Amino acid sequence: MSKRDYYQILGVNKTASQDEIKSAYRKLAIKHHPDKNRGDSNAEHKFKEINEAYDVLKDSQKRATYDQFGHGAFQGGGGAGRGGQDPFSRSAGFEGFNFSGGGGAFSDIFEDLFSDFGSGRRRGRTAQSQVRGADLRYNMQISLEEAFKGKTDTIKFTASVACDGCAGTGSEDQKKSTCSTCNGSGKIRMQQGFFAIEKTCHTCNGEGEIIKNPCKKCNGSGKIRKEKSLSVNIPAGVEDGTRIRLAGEGEAGHRGGPSGDLYIFMSVTPHEIFTRETNDLHCKVPIKMTTAALGGDLEVPSVDGTKVKLTIPEGTQSEDTFRLKSKGMTKLRSTARGDMYVHIHVETPVKLSKKQRKLLEDFETENEEVSSPESASFFKQVKDLFG
Ligand SMILES: [Zn+2]
Ligand SMILES: [Zn+2]
Repeated sequence: MSKRDYYQILGVNKTASQDEIKSAYRKLAIKHHPDKNRGDSNAEHKFKEINEAYDVLKDSQKRATYDQFGHGAFQGGGGAGRGGQDPFSRSAGFEGFNFSGGGGAFSDIFEDLFSDFGSGRRRGRTAQSQVRGADLRYNMQISLEEAFKGKTDTIKFTASVACDGCAGTGSEDQKKSTCSTCNGSGKIRMQQGFFAIEKTCHTCNGEGEIIKNPCKKCNGSGKIRKEKSLSVNIPAGVEDGTRIRLAGEGEAGHRGGPSGDLYIFMSVTPHEIFTRETNDLHCKVPIKMTTAALGGDLEVPSVDGTKVKLTIPEGTQSEDTFRLKSKGMTKLRSTARGDMYVHIHVETPVKLSKKQRKLLEDFETENEEVSSPESASFFKQVKDLFG
C-alpha cells in the first residue's frame, strides 16, 4: 500500500508553519479520536496516519529529512541510504499505543497536547500531582416566599477533606521523595530507533514523587471522608434552576491538590397562588359578577405576606389584567421588585334562590344591547355572516 504524503494527510501545504501544522493535527485528532469512533477501523487507521504524519512534521529536523527523502527515510532497512546511522529505522512506532482507549502512552500524548483544552484534570506539566478534587452538587428546595426574602440555611453533606493526619500530603512524615524511576518528570521516554515515546511512569503513576511512608489514617490518599456542615446564604430573588457556587467546598484534591467546588442547585416549589415569570408574579383572582359590573375594592395577597388593595372599576371583564407595580419578586442582587399582575376571573353565580333568579330575569329584559355591548356586536356579526 503506497503511503500518503504527510502534508496531504494533515491538509496543510509544504510551507505550513509549526503552528499551522499543530492546529491542523489537533482538529483531525479530535475528529478521528478512537474514543469518539469506537469500532470504526477506518477512523482508527486515519488516526494512526495523522499521528504518524504529525510525529514527523512537528519536529523540524525530521521534517527536513522527510522533505528531502520522503517516506523512504522512515522505512526499515535504511532506504534513505544514510549508511549505518539511519535514524529512521522504524516507522513512527505506534505499536505501544492502546487504541481501545484510556491507558498507556495514548492518554499521555493527549494530556500533553490537549492540556489547554480545559479538561480540568491536571494543571500544567510541572504540577502533575496537583489533581483537583471533584465538584459536588447539593439540591436545595425552597418556597417562593423564601426565594422572595432570601435565607440563610445550614447544609450538611459528606465530602472528602484533606486528611488531618498528614496535612493532605498522604505521607506519614509529610515528606515526598522524587521518583527515582522517572527522576521526577512522571514520564518515561522510550527510545525506539530515532523516535521517542513518552509513557506515564508506573512507579509514581505520573506524579513524579513517591511516598515512602504512607499516612495510616488516609492510606496515602491525603484525604478522608467527613460530614461537613456549611452555612449557606441564599440571596433574595433566586430562581428555580439557579446554581450557587461555593468555591473550594467540593471534594478535596489528590494529595494536597486544590479542592473542587460545591454547587447548590436551587429549586423553588410551585406556589398555589402565584406563578413567576422572571421577576414578575401572576395571580388569578376570582371576583363576583356584581363586583365586576358595579366596581369595588378588593384585597389581594402579596408574596411579601401583606395584602394589597386593588380597585376594580365598574364593567370589569373576565381576563382583564391589573398591574400592581413593584409587588412582584425581589430582583437578584437588588432591592428593586418586579410587578404583580392580577388576572381577573368573573365568577358566574350558581345555586340561585328564587328571588335571585327573578331579579336576574328582570335584569335581562332591560335594554340588553346597552349592558352587554360585546355580545350584542358579536351576534350582530354572526347574523350578517349567516343571514
Ligand atoms: Zn516516576
Ligand atoms: Zn493522611
